Amino acid sequence: MVGLGNPGPRYAKTRHNVGADAVALLAERHGGHLRQGKELALETEVRVGDKRLALAFPQTYMNESGRSVARLVRRFKVDDLAQRRELGATSHAPRWAIAYKFPPEEKTTLLKDIMVSIGRTGKATPFAVLEPVVVGGARVGLATLHNQDQVRLKDVRPGDTVVVRRAGDVIPEVRGPVLSLRPPGLVPWVFPDKCPICGSPLQRLKGEADTYCINVDCPGQQVQRITHFASRGAMDIEGLGERTVGLFCEEGILSDVADIYSLDFDRVRKLEGFADLSVANLARAIEASKSRPLANLLVGLSVRHLGANTSQILARSFGNLDRIMEASEEEIAGVEGIGPVIAASIKKFFSLPRNRQVVERLRSAGLNFEGPRQPSLAQTLAGKSVIVTGTLQRWSREQAEAAIKARGGKAPGSVSQKTTALVVGADPGGAKLAKATELGVPVLDEEGFQHLLETGELP
Ligand SMILES: [Zn+2]
Repeated sequence: MVGLGNPGPRYAKTRHNVGADAVALLAERHGGHLRQGKELALETEVRVGDKRLALAFPQTYMNESGRSVARLVRRFKVDDLAQRRELGATSHAPRWAIAYKFPPEEKTTLLKDIMVSIGRTGKATPFAVLEPVVVGGARVGLATLHNQDQVRLKDVRPGDTVVVRRAGDVIPEVRGPVLSLRPPGLVPWVFPDKCPICGSPLQRLKGEADTYCINVDCPGQQVQRITHFASRGAMDIEGLGERTVGLFCEEGILSDVADIYSLDFDRVRKLEGFADLSVANLARAIEASKSRPLANLLVGLSVRHLGANTSQILARSFGNLDRIMEASEEEIAGVEGIGPVIAASIKKFFSLPRNRQVVERLRSAGLNFEGPRQPSLAQTLAGKSVIVTGTLQRWSREQAEAAIKARGGKAPGSVSQKTTALVVGADPGGAKLAKATELGVPVLDEEGFQHLLETGELP
């Protein structure tokens, strides 16, 4: 078990520019005042009455590559354990710590153009092409505009000066135009009615915010689908990233995911940037992907609405791909954790002859269609409920929750007296952590989580 002050060995505690506001806030909460030294990070203290409370210096959590992963939330704490006990806790949170959320940084820059990208399901997403600007510690040249309605709502027009915002590792976003700087004569941007890649009409389904290119042969979709299939969360084929997939598609070597397994390596070798070694590595990575678990294959197929969590549930409940393909919509929707929308989407996907052909070619290539090797994981968490907050290194949130459920546990949305443990990653939710502390719910780091999954016991 890990205390709040020890985020675990993955993180380095660094001195960092201190948020004076946050420290002042903490001082205020205790009716004291703040003394600021020159080196604020080292000499920060709060006075309550005639007591001086030294603060642990504010932490910035860094990941292994040295990148700040919790740039925006800093936790300020009183250093001394005896003083912590003295200060105690309110009904909500300990009185010796405060989480201060810094507002995300905003910058203004020129919006050069608005373009539309096509995703693997055909979804057309408008994005802003910006005069590059450094915001939130990163250089930003592109920012998402989400969908048609968002562009209309924000009324950003190419030629506008816009406010760009970036919060932590979140995708940069355009907040809106600076109207006072709008040059005369700018016309509102109009969402295209044709796919920018294949020229097919774009379609917006009734009641949906998103617009789609519905041409299944759209090269833009193909590249995204194949890239997704090869990505780490799916079949994990190293060396088959978006640029390589794009090149292979352009050269006519690839046009769907099944082509990966009959790749003409002699042709690949002749392409610029490829040598014997890289081709051999690629061949090995492709071969290794054939034995990935069924859940990964399901993720890789790009069935709309089917994510990592639901793929695992399906793989576990049905045991192999053929049973999933043969199952009725009702049967699929009847599985706990799978809703009717996903069930309909799965049924539709496997009813299309071209998708079935791809599946048959994947089968002939020798891909694993069977469920998890241990279909019944030890139900170590039966009757227990475990909550995850913050970003974990080894699991996505979905994967962590799937891992809990796969072992018979529950993963509810909020901490209560019944919670077995709270697993805390980087940049955790303050409310969950405070609640867990208040109720005395054990707080675990990633190692502790692994232990709990395996044994059902708190470390
Ligand atoms: Zn298209």
